[in-house]
Amino acid sequence: MDISFIVNHLGEEREKYDGAVNPPIFQTSNFTVPTVEEFRNRIQHEYDSPFYTRGHNPTVAILRKKIAALEGTEDALIFSSGSGAIAAAVMNVVQSGDHIVCVQKPYGWTNFLLNQLLVKYGVTTTMVDGRDPENYRNAIRENTKLFFLETPNTMTFELQDIHAICDIAKEKNIVTILDNSYCSPLFQQPAAYGVDMICHSATKYFSGHSDVVGGVVCGSSERMRSIFKSEFMCLGANISPHDASMLIKGLRTLPIRLEQSARTAAKVAFYLEYHNKVKKLHWPYSNSFPQKELAKKQMKNCGGLMSIELDVEDYAGVEKFCNSLRYFLMATSWGGFESLIFPICAFSKNKESHTSHLPWNLVRLYIGLEDAELLIRDLDQALERI
Ligand SMILES: *Cc1c(COP(=O)(O)O)cnc(C)c1O
Repeated sequence: MDISFIVNHLGEEREKYDGAVNPPIFQTSNFTVPTVEEFRNRIQHEYDSPFYTRGHNPTVAILRKKIAALEGTEDALIFSSGSGAIAAAVMNVVQSGDHIVCVQKPYGWTNFLLNQLLVKYGVTTTMVDGRDPENYRNAIRENTKLFFLETPNTMTFELQDIHAICDIAKEKNIVTILDNSYCSPLFQQPAAYGVDMICHSATKYFSGHSDVVGGVVCGSSERMRSIFKSEFMCLGANISPHDASMLIKGLRTLPIRLEQSARTAAKVAFYLEYHNKVKKLHWPYSNSFPQKELAKKQMKNCGGLMSIELDVEDYAGVEKFCNSLRYFLMATSWGGFESLIFPICAFSKNKESHTSHLPWNLVRLYIGLEDAELLIRDLDQALERI
């Protein structure tokens, strides 16, 4: 399906709403029915008709259609955060006694879910170096039910070969979940390789304006129905109709925002890769990236997140660089209009007390919608100071 049709028109049924160009925000928790028969009918079809907004809401339903179409899956469920979406998808697959194989260094709360929270319920996880698909195979036990992938990850961007890992999973009857937040469905289509469920933090590229927290799970109708009648309805991490309408607005410009972010990122990456104060650049499409070939094969383009290791002696050097930037804002998250920096050294007081698995001199950059020249000039003056 044509992407511009999906984001601008699919699912909007304007004839139902007086031709309104933008869908109404159904800011209502409740939907009334005229007869007992209709009441009975709605209770049975909560998955696809309005009854109570924790389950179904017409504004949210439009967003479901668009995002499922973008990912190439039958349906999608929208959550109030990416973490809520990931937790629901994982919990739907496993039960006490089951085992998960997950890529090392996933998103922090995914790591917490698998290695802390689910341990309380008797689910165990083996973390593997996902750069070699065989590591997934070698970690399989009799009770392995799920492979979790996040490719690339959002700090150092190691990739997993989606095709190869899916083949192993299919052979062993293991379910696959992939966090596709970095690429968005525009730059990577995991469903085409047979990934069962695709998760997103909609807070990032889908929103694009740093004004909504949201999450998504995409997959077959059967899987989405299974999550709906259990984790979705029970844990109640549904998105509000207003936030759903903000995400619909964000999606309209997703193709042009991504295009711009990727184009600018390529220029910034080229500048950083050869700068003498930068020891190492982590960005999947850069010449020095060890998995560049795989990145070019399974990704259509590369997003605006990258990291650099600074050539400095200590924390003070990193701090000097970060504090000198004028147009890059210092914050967590990414995917909005504003360029950002995220210093790993903020996790501890000094080099001696550094415990993170990430290098202490690592600074993550997110390239937003500003001009490349403005951003490079800013980086240039800050690198000059260290
Ligand atoms: C931000 C993020 C999440 C979590 O999403 P929230 O919307 O913040 O809950 C999950 N995975 C990745 C890769 C992320 O960047």
